[in-house]
Amino acid sequence: MPWILRGLSNGVITSKYPKKMDSYGDSHHSSVKVQTEYLASRDTDLEGLCPTGAIRVELGRPRIDLGQCILCGRCVDRAPEIFSFSTDFETARLSRDLLVVPPSAESTGELANLKSALADRVRRFGNSVALRHIDCGSDGSEEWEIAALTNPVYDVQRLGITFTASPRHADILLVTGAGAKGMSDSLKETYHQMAEPKVVVAVGTDAISGGTHSNSAAVVAGGIEGVLPVDVFVPGSPPSPFGILYGILLAMGIALDGGAST
Ligand code: SF4
Repeated sequence: MPWILRGLSNGVITSKYPKKMDSYGDSHHSSVKVQTEYLASRDTDLEGLCPTGAIRVELGRPRIDLGQCILCGRCVDRAPEIFSFSTDFETARLSRDLLVVPPSAESTGELANLKSALADRVRRFGNSVALRHIDCGSDGSEEWEIAALTNPVYDVQRLGITFTASPRHADILLVTGAGAKGMSDSLKETYHQMAEPKVVVAVGTDAISGGTHSNSAAVVAGGIEGVLPVDVFVPGSPPSPFGILYGILLAMGIALDGGAST
């Protein structure tokens, strides 16, 4: 009885996203923005601020590779005139190059081709997909956010998205973790057991680049892209459930931005 009363008093709590943005959707730090007008002097060591090497200065202009950023906030604390947190969770991209912000003209030029190639491949998914998740050396944070996708707030089943234990039933492979070498064979085997068409989504900075473990002898160089072809990159450490959901929608070929407005 108390559960029924509680349910009635709470009303419908399920998100309307992607039809409508929820007010709480952008309440977390999801990436770091760069002040594009800033021109660094030679004696400013901006690259040295970052523990993962995500900051690069090219011709005085700082850029951040979100695929390496663990959202530690060090650059935002030390140089707030250049770096600031963004709460826009739609950070997933269809190419590794598009994770570098501000993006270059060359990388954004490729986006239309990437979107149409992916849309052609996944047309047979229709309006529903089954996801298989593999942990390749995660710290567990991405798993919490993925698990939240099935709770009453995110309720991804309403969008035709389900989870499966069998790779043979799966359309989309979600991979988390820094790419532990001990998991490489299992990851490849899972991928090969999936029927075509199939899409691989790297979830989290660790999966994209190895994160803070990128120099470890225990992980594959370059994150899980060193083992499998990756179609969608979801940065964040960890990305929020909305950020992961946006990446899954991109993987389904649903016409979302995919990097055009970074
Ligand atoms: S917030 Fe990201 S870019 Fe900034 S110092 Fe930390 S890891 Fe590097």
